[in-house]
Amino acid sequence: MRSPFAAAAALLASLSFAPPLAAQRIPTGTPQLSPAEPQDATPLRSAPISAVRYEVTADRAALGEHRLHVVTTFGVSGTAPVALSLPDWTPGAYEIVNFARTVSGFAAVQGSDSLDWDKADYDTWRVTPKRAGEVSVAFDVTADTLDNGMSWTRPDFALFNGTNVFLYPEGRSTDFPATVTIRTEPDFLIATGMTRAAASRTFSAGNYHELVDMPFFVGRFDLDSAVVSGKTMRFATYPVGSFSGPARATAWEQIKRSVPPEVLVFGTVPWDSYTVMWITDSVGGGMSGLEHSNSHVDVSVPAGIGSQFQPRLFAHEIFHAWNVKRLRPADLVPYRYDRAQPTPWLWMSEGVTDYYADLALVRGGVVDARGFYDMVSENMAQIADAPAFAVEDASLNAWIKVRDGTDALYYPKGSLAGLALDIMIRDASDDRSSLDHVMRDLYRATYEQGRGFTADDWWGAIRRASNGRSYDDFARRYIDGREPYPWAELLKVVGLRMQPDSVPRMGIALQVEPAGGVKVTQVVPNGAAATAGMQANDVVVAVDGRPSLEVFFGGGFRTMYGEKPAGTLIPVSVKRGDQTLTLQVPLRFGAAAAKVVEDPAAPPRAIRLRDGLLRGTTDR
Ligand SMILES: [Zn+2]
Repeated sequence: MRSPFAAAAALLASLSFAPPLAAQRIPTGTPQLSPAEPQDATPLRSAPISAVRYEVTADRAALGEHRLHVVTTFGVSGTAPVALSLPDWTPGAYEIVNFARTVSGFAAVQGSDSLDWDKADYDTWRVTPKRAGEVSVAFDVTADTLDNGMSWTRPDFALFNGTNVFLYPEGRSTDFPATVTIRTEPDFLIATGMTRAAASRTFSAGNYHELVDMPFFVGRFDLDSAVVSGKTMRFATYPVGSFSGPARATAWEQIKRSVPPEVLVFGTVPWDSYTVMWITDSVGGGMSGLEHSNSHVDVSVPAGIGSQFQPRLFAHEIFHAWNVKRLRPADLVPYRYDRAQPTPWLWMSEGVTDYYADLALVRGGVVDARGFYDMVSENMAQIADAPAFAVEDASLNAWIKVRDGTDALYYPKGSLAGLALDIMIRDASDDRSSLDHVMRDLYRATYEQGRGFTADDWWGAIRRASNGRSYDDFARRYIDGREPYPWAELLKVVGLRMQPDSVPRMGIALQVEPAGGVKVTQVVPNGAAATAGMQANDVVVAVDGRPSLEVFFGGGFRTMYGEKPAGTLIPVSVKRGDQTLTLQVPLRFGAAAAKVVEDPAAPPRAIRLRDGLLRGTTDR
């Protein structure tokens, strides 16, 4: 998914209070209507098209009007209607957006003749050719939304995703090659994962899935490259100069350290070159990334640069190049662009990706073991305040963004499921096998055989790695079920234990403000913030002089105040309407949470298993 570390989620986890759940009323005695037999409409099927090429104009004139001009040219063999659709969503961003909404000025021509067209459905245009030959279809796309999966322009820059601009023939194979030519200013750069073609500023894709999986940066931005794990890695950042100097050097260091441990899991680098595409802008409101096969797009507020979150975001999105872009649940193979594609497996595709991102950081030396345990503890804290939920259910819910307090929690809980399984596999195999082996086996047995994985593939691979141990009970209780994970028992196996930990609490719920800062959405009555006079709709600008976003990202608040005595006054700058106030919030601690620590009395076997997990090794 594209918002693995949405700021709001992090903030709520560290600071929110859980509102009492409204009792759910289940209607009883509702008369049951017998459903009518579904009537399948005749599926829409386009006449075949050939030699497809796209031209996208992103020059200063277009960018100045927040639009891209798109021309699609293709061959037809007769006068049968051609039905051309735009996707309803971008894979990885599991929500229906309907990109056809952004289209205006649609026109179709054949030579000097304009062609008749109408809408066949809300995302499909039906064009009637006059004869065999070449047809061109043109439209403008409004590109004014800063979102990893959408299109956005500035006077000197454009981000666009293929799902937003590239038409496909409805009801036909997506297995057609295409070229893309970018019309832009001579001094503008282009960055994309697409393959360069012979013609100037032209790129090629082998099929439609590849085409729409390779977003573009066009304009003025910083671009450099390095060799990482034997392949070229590029770093494209907008605006120019926004991610430079020591901050850029640190980012490169994080990437160079965390990618090799990820490569070791699968034993193969799946890209020829990989492009990290980063946009810094306060309009984005937080930090998020969207994965692709050989690139990813990050959108971050300025405070995200250098944050604790930054290396986790890189490691997460890059790990997706294996896990979800290639190794993928069968429910998502192939991607369907005209409908939602729910799956109960996002806890694996996203949560286990989170687990491996954190492992890559400790295995690559970006963080030490304590830093890894803190990330595990943070995942535990994120789900501690939520109502009990099953990771499979939370995965299915991704498309509808549920409001019961469990939205997107398949990330932290899925990560913890990965840790639990890794521990159990190492235990059952006496550290001869690990979740790493499962990931690699599954990659070879499913992705490399041209298919998605099923429940049998996943649990079968885990069982084989565990000397035949059954996971039926685990799956029933902890994946499909809502039981809390048995951490005391699991952590003991790897020489870790839970230690009570008090968490500083302000007693507010927050959301990130698009214009910067974080807005208070709720104030707990009689909580610390309430006693200092904080009100709902105040915008927190700074905490003890540090930008609020920085403070609230990645447990910063806890780092600053976790060790201070209760009652310490915290100066909090807030904006209330036109006023800027400094409130003195007394430090209070919430109900005891727990953090993961090493057990000094751990036996040698537990230490051996723990070392294997932290280093990515097994005893073979
Ligand atoms: Zn993700």
